[in-house]
Amino acid sequence: MENKKFDIVVIGAGPGGYVAAIKASQYGKKVVLIEKQFMGGTCLNVGCIPTKTLISNAHILHTIKQAADFGISTGPVSFEYAKMKHRKDSVVEKMRKSLEGLVKSNGITIMQGHAEFISTRELKIRGEMNEIITFDKAIVATGSEPLDIPAFPCDHKKVLNSTSILELSTLPKSLAIIGGGYIGCEFASLFAELGVKVTILEAMPMILAPQGKTISDVITRAFIKKGVDVQTSVMVEGIDDTATGVSIRIKDKGTVECDMALVSIGRKIVSSDLGLDKIGVKVSDRGAVAVDAKMETTTPGIYAIGDVTGQYMLAHVASHQGVVAASNACGVKADMHYEAVPAVIFTSPEIAMVGITPEQAAESQLPFAIGKFPFQALGKAVASMDTEGFAQIIINKQTGQVLGAQVIGKDASSLISEIALAMSNELTLDCITETIHAHPTLPEAWLEAALIAGDTPIHLPPKVKKT
Ligand SMILES: Cc1cc2nc3c(=O)[nH]c(=O)nc-3n(C[C@H](O)[C@H](O)[C@H](O)COP(=O)(O)OP(=O)(O)OC[C@H]3O[C@@H](n4cnc5c(N)ncnc54)[C@H](O)[C@@H]3O)c2cc1C
Repeated sequence: MENKKFDIVVIGAGPGGYVAAIKASQYGKKVVLIEKQFMGGTCLNVGCIPTKTLISNAHILHTIKQAADFGISTGPVSFEYAKMKHRKDSVVEKMRKSLEGLVKSNGITIMQGHAEFISTRELKIRGEMNEIITFDKAIVATGSEPLDIPAFPCDHKKVLNSTSILELSTLPKSLAIIGGGYIGCEFASLFAELGVKVTILEAMPMILAPQGKTISDVITRAFIKKGVDVQTSVMVEGIDDTATGVSIRIKDKGTVECDMALVSIGRKIVSSDLGLDKIGVKVSDRGAVAVDAKMETTTPGIYAIGDVTGQYMLAHVASHQGVVAASNACGVKADMHYEAVPAVIFTSPEIAMVGITPEQAAESQLPFAIGKFPFQALGKAVASMDTEGFAQIIINKQTGQVLGAQVIGKDASSLISEIALAMSNELTLDCITETIHAHPTLPEAWLEAALIAGDTPIHLPPKVKKT
């Protein structure tokens, strides 16, 4: 009979939990990772990976459609969505298996079942076998789920959420997306590229509101160009089933008729059935577990990471928090810092950002300057016909410190890493301008944006032309 006492217990095997488990095992601890569903959590199974797999199909299709502009004849182009879905399922399956192998190779015990605290040192696990285990320290990484609200109940046939839409094998002709946040926008971009007539219904005056007006305007224009109907400041009141699809009721504005609707209005934090109340862990009204910079909850020895903390709700933040929590749980001091969290929106064009937005800079008391370089002026972008978008950098004019950056366009998801590295190491503008950037490449956009922020542009005319 296996010893059911562990040094560290991690609940939830998403990108927060499994990274925390590996880190704790690297510190020589006896670790158990408990998962009630699938290894990899939301991110691997119904989040980042399946969506980006489907989006990569749309990219290929887009590239093939552009072939004629490059002098390449392709003939008629068609696709089978069922095959795209099959490829998505295979990618997820493959990564899930290799993750399980990775976790086991670190000597971590995996237990399948639903974990619930009995005390600050004991957990009950309900699964194939009901068991009780004891532990010294616990890390809660139970993540989040799609938010299903009574006004828009999902039947998962015509009214879908971000999880059930991934199970479609055939595409609807038309789709209404309720919610213009990043998940709604990624699905809008994907399905519009695949020929679905997409309508976005957003209650705020703009889509992607938290990302700021500049980004919202650019992506709205790109969506409209692709035929997406972007409706903002609209309040959806309900969804009715019709013979042909769904009818979406909008306050004071009639209805929108579509084959299907995707409800993408936020995420529900998974913290209610963990027994946290029994062990004194403070949880907010929306279910977010309160943590300090060490990722420790209000109960000593119990840590929480990832979406369950309600902060950022991004996979890479969950993983980083996992490293911090595991280090502290293992007696090695570490703190979380959030000044340089990159975020990417995988629309077409891609959007990526880190640090503050121009709006936040304007609201702050800081003396700031912005350098913005359009991809149109970038050799590599012109060569590959990727001229849509720009890279923009915000600096403190007095100290030269990089405060934030946004990039829209080809490979924005990769480009943002340079500025995230600069910001997390508190580098200044000079560090970027003095770094030799390979030519011709897209990262040169950062060099140019930095030069503009410092009023010394090379590949754009000066603000005041010399005669
Ligand atoms: C459609 C979509 C696309 C996304 N795309 C991106 C992206 O491109 N980039 C990005 O950074 N983020 C993305 N996200 C967000 C990302 O998926 C989450 O931020 C990330 O998965 C959070 O990780 P986590 O470890 O906190 O929780 P999760 O990944 O949610 O994992 C939690 C795990 O805990 C398990 N669990 C819950 N309760 C218990 C219990 N009592 N006992 C045992 N196990 C339990 C769950 O089954 C789950 O497996 C996306 C999300 C969605 C929905």
